Amino acid sequence: MTSLTAAPPWLAAPMSALRAAREQGRTHHALLIHEAPGTGGDWLAAWAAALVLCERGNTAPCGECTACRRVASLHHPDVSWVRPQEDSRQIRIEQVRELSAELALTSHGGGYKVGILTPADALNRFAANALLKTLEEPPARTLLILVATEPSRLPPTVLSRCQRLRIRAPERAESIAWLTEVRGKGDWGAALDTLGEAPMQVAQGDPAELAEVGVDTRKTLDALTAGRTDPVAAAERWTRSQLPLRLLCFENWLTERIRCGERGGALLAELRAGPYLSEPAPFLNIRELFGLIDEVRDLRATLDVPLNRGLALEALFRRIAPAGGVRDGVQG
Ligand SMILES: [Zn+2]
Repeated sequence: MTSLTAAPPWLAAPMSALRAAREQGRTHHALLIHEAPGTGGDWLAAWAAALVLCERGNTAPCGECTACRRVASLHHPDVSWVRPQEDSRQIRIEQVRELSAELALTSHGGGYKVGILTPADALNRFAANALLKTLEEPPARTLLILVATEPSRLPPTVLSRCQRLRIRAPERAESIAWLTEVRGKGDWGAALDTLGEAPMQVAQGDPAELAEVGVDTRKTLDALTAGRTDPVAAAERWTRSQLPLRLLCFENWLTERIRCGERGGALLAELRAGPYLSEPAPFLNIRELFGLIDEVRDLRATLDVPLNRGLALEALFRRIAPAGGVRDGVQG
């Protein structure tokens, strides 16, 4: 995890809200961090944990005491991180029960106990119901933190018991300045083009590699929409290298299409431009684009499941390719 002292500037508002609540002794027992993807929900959760656990009250979180360093290295005995288990895309009821039992124990440091569920929108229905009990009757000095990109997937009964903190996607210049500060010089603009305005995610990668895969992936997608490349060959190529990264880039590419459509009123205008104006190009409305994003996400989430990814990818590619297939025998 990035150091707790290198605070991303776009988190300033939720951080000062948390600090003010702490100073006034009214820290809410349950927080819901609603983040734009890759903008630092987990970082803010760790920071909030350090805020209540730091050994230097006045300057908390100092980032230097044992408690702060343990939180930052994800090894604090009073902080439980709950994530979907490796073979699953869900947080299950057993995990929530385990967390509740842990929170009921006396803390190691004599202070708060913190439970962080991320992504909380991965809680399945039973797990969310089990969590509700702890949310309704939390043990004293408990802090529960739910991190979610799509909180609407959570039951209203859970949402209504949490104090909501919003993290919006930062401006491009802000992201680049922060990435340069924490990671040094690099073509961060191109890296952000690949993954979208998700600086926290970008910070974990190599900017040159991100940029290169991004350019190549978008080239394939543009060629597919123009009918200049064969979906089967493209799917085969993607499954051979950098598939998870390419799928993230695909998702971002689709999101961009939705944004363009919302801005210009014309969906996929740029798909219909280009050298094949006379040909009927695919018309995808916003609902179809959102549907495609969900499918790309599903595919990304099941990458460790043995299934024919080439076939699944090919089916997705056919949805964005013109109906007539590859034109003029040109392979892109
Ligand atoms: Zn500290």
